[in-house]
Amino acid sequence: MTTRIVIIGGGPAGHSAATYGARLGAEIVLIERDVLGGAAHLWDCIPSKAMIATGGALSFLARSEGMGLEQVSPHIDLDGVRERLSGIEAKLTNSTNRVLESQKVRIVDGIGTLLGPNLVRATTPDGEHEDFEADYIVLCTGSRPRLPDWAAVDGDRILSTRDAYPPKQLPEHLVVVGSGVTGVEFVHMFRSFGSEVTLLVSRQQVLPAKDPEVAAALEDDFIRRGVNLMKGARSTGIERTESGVIVHAEDGRHAEGSHALLAIGSIPNSESLGLENVGIETDGGYVTVDHHCRSAVPHIYAAGDLSGRLPLSSVASMQGRKIAEHAMGMHDLPHRHLDYDKAASAIFTEPEIADVGLAEADAFAEGRKIRVTKVPFSVSAKALINNDSRGFVKIVSDPATGVVLGGSIVGRHAAELISVLALAVTAGLTVTDLVESLFVHPALAEVLGEAAE
Ligand SMILES: Cc1cc2nc3c(=O)[nH]c(=O)nc-3n(C[C@H](O)[C@H](O)[C@H](O)COP(=O)(O)OP(=O)(O)OC[C@H]3O[C@@H](n4cnc5c(N)ncnc54)[C@H](O)[C@@H]3O)c2cc1C
Repeated sequence: MTTRIVIIGGGPAGHSAATYGARLGAEIVLIERDVLGGAAHLWDCIPSKAMIATGGALSFLARSEGMGLEQVSPHIDLDGVRERLSGIEAKLTNSTNRVLESQKVRIVDGIGTLLGPNLVRATTPDGEHEDFEADYIVLCTGSRPRLPDWAAVDGDRILSTRDAYPPKQLPEHLVVVGSGVTGVEFVHMFRSFGSEVTLLVSRQQVLPAKDPEVAAALEDDFIRRGVNLMKGARSTGIERTESGVIVHAEDGRHAEGSHALLAIGSIPNSESLGLENVGIETDGGYVTVDHHCRSAVPHIYAAGDLSGRLPLSSVASMQGRKIAEHAMGMHDLPHRHLDYDKAASAIFTEPEIADVGLAEADAFAEGRKIRVTKVPFSVSAKALINNDSRGFVKIVSDPATGVVLGGSIVGRHAAELISVLALAVTAGLTVTDLVESLFVHPALAEVLGEAAE
């Protein structure tokens, strides 16, 4: 008998579970209340990186002095940016639809709810409903921005991340609250668009979870570009004034601007899923899962942001794939466990920041013996050619075996270059493997080989 899998949520996790499940022969129903591709396509990864690319084109030109170019002074056209974002989103949604349809996935436009352990209801926009029996259920309803009660987000002057693609007007002075990955990307984006930017940093370091040396490189760049950093400033309120906003900090300081943007994390979309109908409990709204992404009810899986693991699109997709393989009985094959510690991640600032595996600071905290090697991009011919020698490559390896345990890259194309280290970490390659790889010349990747020496 054909295995029936019902998936609620069509973001990266749901899309991947559907694609791989169908490929492995399952009959798939995918219920999505909004747009296939999920928040990742509509609000998060794609529009933010597309806007950063526009800002990057501007800052590239600004940095091109000395490259033999006549200087030009382009400016931001918000309508053009908006049109570009809709175009990208439409193309991605179409291709997502095409892939799923070609694999005979049944796409249902509606809100999915669990009625019982093997029964899912889809309520369509016109209020009709259809029920689906399932052997396996995959919950991947994602998350949404956390909005605190001390800030009245109005989408006009006080913005959530979802109001920023792009806002109605370019902020003259944007006050960003939140200095994690999302916050610093918005700082970079709007600064490169020409806005004045103030960043409220609740602790003493931007990117508090990152390697201090990496965070310091970003802070230096922000300061060089005129970003105002208010460290140790925990926001407690945002007041709207006639012409703008005032963001108040716990210690009495405040920051004035034309707009404020909140980037203080997200909360899971789990409250109306009907989890109580099947006895699944949540931890802070997240569905607790085991290493196969199974919930407390073993044939009901959760993936993506809802699973409370690493909130990354890449991780969500990999979880979706692993779930499909597990449900279809492939769990006895080797290498089937997803190791979150080996996920590469990037921050699309300028310079870009990317890392994977064991961080130097974490190794020290654990008292673990490691070898750390670091080479700046200033030694690279390609960096000179690019007119951008900022940043470095750092590799963390095992001093006894040479196995690459992790690494960080700060600099242009770090998000691409980290893939080499991600492969090394996943495959257990050694620094010698990197040293003996014949990289292209001239290429930034050559610095990886040098850092591995
Ligand atoms: C500003 C920002 C930028 C980011 N940039 C990156 C990046 O560059 N790289 C990266 O890897 N990650 C990035 N992320 C994180 C990434 O967007 C998420 O980790 C990813 O979208 C999670 O995928 P998902 O499938 O769990 O959920 P989502 O993409 O949120 O999709 C969930 C889907 O479920 C649907 N849904 C919800 N409830 C129901 C229901 N009851 N019935 C039917 N459908 C439902 C929603 O409509 C949505 O389409 C970013 C996040 C933010 C906030």
